[in-house]
Amino acid sequence: MNLLVTGAAGFIGSAYVRMLLTTGAAQASGVCGVTVLDNLTYASNLDNLDLSDPRLTFVRGDICDARLVDRLMEKTDQVVHFAAESHVDRSIASADVFVRTNVTGTQTLLDSALRHGTKRFVHVSTDEVYGSVESGSSTEQDALDPNSPYAASKAASDLLALSYHRTHDLDVRVTRCTNNYGPRQFPEKIIPLFLTSLLDGGDVPLYGDGLNRRDWLYVDDHCRAVELVRTSGSPGRVYNIGGGTELSNRELTGHLLAACGADWSRVRYVPDRKGHDRRYSLDDTRARTELGHRPRHDFASGLAATFAWYHDNRDWWEPLKRRLTA
Ligand code: NAD
Repeated sequence: MNLLVTGAAGFIGSAYVRMLLTTGAAQASGVCGVTVLDNLTYASNLDNLDLSDPRLTFVRGDICDARLVDRLMEKTDQVVHFAAESHVDRSIASADVFVRTNVTGTQTLLDSALRHGTKRFVHVSTDEVYGSVESGSSTEQDALDPNSPYAASKAASDLLALSYHRTHDLDVRVTRCTNNYGPRQFPEKIIPLFLTSLLDGGDVPLYGDGLNRRDWLYVDDHCRAVELVRTSGSPGRVYNIGGGTELSNRELTGHLLAACGADWSRVRYVPDRKGHDRRYSLDDTRARTELGHRPRHDFASGLAATFAWYHDNRDWWEPLKRRLTA
């Protein structure tokens, strides 16, 4: 069986492909070929993939390119769709590419999957589609109420994907996951930004009062959940994927300072992000009871592994930081 994985030169998609090809997961589910489609935006890094693996084919290209997508879909049995513009701050500065990639790109893939009778389509969405949740936790039945342009574009693509199931009976499965962290995350997101800045002896910018709350999941646990949804989920079903570690940004900053042996003098308070959602929280009972999803990493061990990776892999992130600050 051949799998098309979009966006797998990025953070989560590449972790998913590494998991498939190095842990026996591909063999276990009869996957013999994995094609990665990625147009290598600033957020990608080909070093994230082992291109010498004969089961892996890398294609540089745009998910909005219908002809290219059609050519790849002809040889595809199942799709796992990670490709997206993923940084909220960039969507606030300019939403254009977010609508193009996240909405039009997803529609292009869905149409092609339909034309070619693709057997399964896993769409990777996010908890941000539910909007800010002041108390309690979002269930899969809750209405979507996205606030940032990023979240709105993800909500649009999430609903489009589900509409192809309802309208065309395409086997679409949607995951909505909390904040991920781990090795190889582009150093504009809070955890790698703070770790790399602190490792460099610099300071770190904390938004507003620092009391916005997020739930954190180690990236490999997200990948195993996506794989459970692909192999054991049900068509047309949405699965919330929670992390179980809810922290305010202030609490998170405290953990990152401690990991780097730094103190609060390194923290700079900056004006809040526009429209900053106060809190995300997921009820992931469905993924736990129906699929047996259980994160293997608690926050302490996940953060230790993440810190160690950024500490030991300056070659990976220093050029990216230089480009960000140029
Ligand atoms: P990322 O920004 O690290 O990677 C995105 C990848 O998509 C990059 O390799 C990029 O080159 C590729 N890409 C972008 N536009 C493309 C296009 N037009 N054609 C082909 N490839 C394109 O993102 P990530 O953090 O790995 O997130 C992956 C997915 O998971 C996204 O859909 C995101 O919305 C979702 N998600 C992320 C998180 C998180 O905490 N990072 C949480 C929940 C869900």
